[in-house]
Amino acid sequence: MCGIVAYLGQKTAQPILIEGLKRLEYRGYDSAGVALLSNGVIKIKKTSGRIAALEAILDKPQANETLGLGHTRWATHGVPNQINAHPHADYTGKIAVVHNGIIENYSTLKTWLQNEGVTFVSDTDTEVIANLIGYFYEKCDAGERTRKPQGQNRFEWAVQRALQEVHGTYGLGILCADCPDMFIGAKKGSPLILGVSEGEYILASDAAAIIEHTAKALYLSDNEMVIVTADGFHTKTIDNIAVTKSLENIEFSLEQIELGSFKHHMLKEIFEQPKALTTCMGGRIDPQNDRIHLGGVNDYLRAMTHIKRLIITACGTAFHAGLVGEFLFEQMARIITETEYASEFRYRNPIIEDGTTVIAISQSGETADTLAAVEQAKERGATVLGIVNVVGSSIARATDAGVYLHAGPEIGVASTKAFTAQVAVLTMLAIELSRRRLVSSDEATRYIKELAKIPDKISQILKQSEHIRTIAQANINQNNWLFLGRGINYPVALEGALKLKEISYIHAEGLPAAEMKHGPIALIVDGMPAVFIATNGPQYDKIIGNICEVRARKGKTIIVATEGNDHIKPYADYLITVPDAPELLQPMLTVIPLQLMAYHAAVLRGHDVDKPRNLAKSVTVE
Ligand code: GLU
Repeated sequence: MCGIVAYLGQKTAQPILIEGLKRLEYRGYDSAGVALLSNGVIKIKKTSGRIAALEAILDKPQANETLGLGHTRWATHGVPNQINAHPHADYTGKIAVVHNGIIENYSTLKTWLQNEGVTFVSDTDTEVIANLIGYFYEKCDAGERTRKPQGQNRFEWAVQRALQEVHGTYGLGILCADCPDMFIGAKKGSPLILGVSEGEYILASDAAAIIEHTAKALYLSDNEMVIVTADGFHTKTIDNIAVTKSLENIEFSLEQIELGSFKHHMLKEIFEQPKALTTCMGGRIDPQNDRIHLGGVNDYLRAMTHIKRLIITACGTAFHAGLVGEFLFEQMARIITETEYASEFRYRNPIIEDGTTVIAISQSGETADTLAAVEQAKERGATVLGIVNVVGSSIARATDAGVYLHAGPEIGVASTKAFTAQVAVLTMLAIELSRRRLVSSDEATRYIKELAKIPDKISQILKQSEHIRTIAQANINQNNWLFLGRGINYPVALEGALKLKEISYIHAEGLPAAEMKHGPIALIVDGMPAVFIATNGPQYDKIIGNICEVRARKGKTIIVATEGNDHIKPYADYLITVPDAPELLQPMLTVIPLQLMAYHAAVLRGHDVDKPRNLAKSVTVE
């Protein structure tokens, strides 16, 4: 993960770098640092802790320091202390590097450099890149192996040579003390964008750090570098082949990434769900004419009408959306579907026969495991579709086609609106495939009409936020929770448990309700909260049985039930209601109380909801 930023322009760089880092802090927040070029010398300030800790140790910004780098870290190699924080300088002090990613052959390269007399000070993989660049810069033209093509800039050449040696992933920002008006960015496997405005350039891991300055941006592809100077920029591959790229528009506004009146991004994003789903479905569902239009995958739908098997691959919350998708595709369109963790799928030598389509789901579109699963599926000849939120992200580019969520930027580390939007997209896809595959389209027509009502129904549920807060408060000292659901609400139970774990650090397990009696029932003790999703549906009576099993053992039942169901009242210690909806559309409703429960529990326990312990938003490392 990690957030990187670099600036070159006429303005004082330090405040711009700090502002950029604050926008990227959701990507990592265990240590932070900046490097500024000051009269031919690279000055580095870095510390463990958050950006606020970095601000406390910074010198007064200097108007002549208009070039610099910034980094907010989520450690992979080396504990999060001051020495391991980025930027990393090379052994000569001429080069400074900020890095997002993992250098897989760092240990071999480090030994080789050490044998050449190069010294290291940190435990990071990143320092190897700084020292490799420094090594080639120092040795440039000193021998046959380090001969630079005539006319090429020495710094640019040294970066290329270093990157040719490196295996792994990187988003890099690099400075050289001898080049007062220049920085270099390079990308492989980690996102990197260059924002371009009048005489001003800002490189960042995410458009959130750029949008304040410009909406014009250049999206780098893997193995590409951008060389930015006061006179402009040019792009090349790391093998020195020129690449022509055009500027694209950043699709979101500053307002969308600011908190407004909300205390946390997570709460803002929970409350944005009616709007996010309306935008996600806008122009795609047409309840008047009973049609669904999914422009991004249109060309593939005809072929998908005859597919034999679907594999959905994802991680974390997106994996739970995928599990909901598995029910949708099987129940609505009668397609054999399997949902697999991307991190497992990629290493299991997956069987991909003719007629298999793979769907990869990722909010950021940068999840390293999911991206690797996409590459694996493509190599084996599958058609691969993407469901991602971030336009132009690596998975969006790597897949054959896809559907964007259009849910707006999601900053909260615990994913909420992306989940409901992912489920909405999967539902639209399943309905459209069912319409094309099955003879009767009556069901599809009914689902289309019902889907259009979901955003308003979510608004109704959000009104119970305060009620849910009081339930969280009443159970706040409980350290073990169960989340139970059946059928399509089972993945929602998994998601409810994950949310609670992520931000409130309370141990929680999600289970298919009927599985409880095969083991986890042993956990139930007096007062232990068990959250049941017991909405109307064919398994309602069965879940009442499971609720009784918990009550008989003195567990506390928190029940999410359908509005107007009085029958369930005697079974509930706490009752939360959701509007009625067809069973297959319920996950977009039943997950909302569970998101709010996790949020309130985390706040009540005094945790920093948007920056949960040990986590970062998009997992761009394996
Ligand atoms: N591998 C680098 C480090 O540990 C960067 C980590 C990352 O991008 O998550 O410092």
